[in-house]
Amino acid sequence: MREFDEWYNEVVERAELCDKRYPVKGMNVWLPYGWKIMRNIDAIIREEMEKTGHNEVNFPLLIPESFFKKEAEHIKGFNEEVYWVTHAGKNELDERLLLRPTSETAIYPMFSLWIRSHADLPFKIFQIVNTFRYETKMTKAFLRVREIHFFEAHTAHEDFEDAERQIKEDMEIAERFFRKLSLPFIASIRPDWDKFAGAHYSIGLDILMPSMKALQVGSIHQYRQNFSIPFEIKYEGIDGNHYYCHQTTYGMSERVLGAIIGIHGDEKGIVLPSSIAPIKVVIIPIIFKGWEDKVMEKCRSVEEELKRIGIECLIDDRDKTPGNKFYDWELKGIPIRIEIGPKDIENNVITIVTRDGVKKRLPENEIEKIEEELKEFDERIYEKAKKLMEENIKRLEKIEEAEGIVEIPWCGKEECGKEMEERLDMKSLGVPYSHEEVDGTCPICGMRATKLLRLAKTY
Ligand code: ZN
Repeated sequence: MREFDEWYNEVVERAELCDKRYPVKGMNVWLPYGWKIMRNIDAIIREEMEKTGHNEVNFPLLIPESFFKKEAEHIKGFNEEVYWVTHAGKNELDERLLLRPTSETAIYPMFSLWIRSHADLPFKIFQIVNTFRYETKMTKAFLRVREIHFFEAHTAHEDFEDAERQIKEDMEIAERFFRKLSLPFIASIRPDWDKFAGAHYSIGLDILMPSMKALQVGSIHQYRQNFSIPFEIKYEGIDGNHYYCHQTTYGMSERVLGAIIGIHGDEKGIVLPSSIAPIKVVIIPIIFKGWEDKVMEKCRSVEEELKRIGIECLIDDRDKTPGNKFYDWELKGIPIRIEIGPKDIENNVITIVTRDGVKKRLPENEIEKIEEELKEFDERIYEKAKKLMEENIKRLEKIEEAEGIVEIPWCGKEECGKEMEERLDMKSLGVPYSHEEVDGTCPICGMRATKLLRLAKTY
């Protein structure tokens, strides 16, 4: 585990994703390469939001203290993590402002102004902004930071059933989103003692990292009317009466990038699925004396052809040895490199090497097959990640030492769940979202158990 953590801490800087030398703890600088990848991840979620009828907004960063305090559970959950603004210039503010740790209390006062009638519902918005949380645990690039690159969708509905439909849609969005990133995940309904502050229930989306610790990469919350009542988000129904809305949220952050680094990476560096790689194919000229012009000419024609079919690519014509170039692009996780040397020219082929080590030759008039190669590459890294996860989800009948994610029959009582946490030195992830009934015995109290509690060590 320490080995993985060390590798992770180094690779985020060596691959030029972020610079951790910024002098505020937990706040790193996004470097151009890392930011480009993050923006590509954001583009996928934006596309999903668009497809499902969510509109993008952008709310102010500061929230008045009185708004923040309107929902009692919410403030209890976040109070310790809040950064406060107390002064403007030399003047102490009449009312303190806080940097959003999440945006419910910024957005919902506006919902109460915007939502008027049943015709406005469902009301679906999202934003991608930075949020701030004063983390007291050890910070780690992309996994535990104090300034968070945050995606949050907020919806309002006529009734509980429509909000439940939204949660189903969110789950479908998550399936498509993580599949595009070749990331297998599990969804669990968090136990009551660990749900989001103010939620009726929360679903955690978790990924198992190679360190055998689970990483929460997303969460979906059913709020019921817990926020709409204090924030007075009401609509006029068909019958002319006024009702409080039901609400949901869906959130993710740059932890998704952390998961990609952790899950797909290897000793050579990071590995990027083609959906988010800023450069999908790098072309490396293998120059021999007398062949300079011919090799470069072929590199350029391959580049042109790839660009024509919409594949981002680059010729690496730096004054370095091919070996050094391979090393650099492997570190940065480029899915495919093409090598072009005299032999390739003589045989009318190009040599491709995928980031996971598959080497083959393609006839030069079949360059469009690269698209297929990228798909197969994405599929292979997905299958590899899925295998790692599936091999490390274990069903236990009694409390015994285990690694990865464990699933234990559970009677549903909080005290039993908490005792499992303590004895395993793990945290509850919750009950599988696709809750199939089991027939077991709670190993703590001996009562009949019809569900499983998932537990793991977590980030
Ligand atoms: Zn029990």
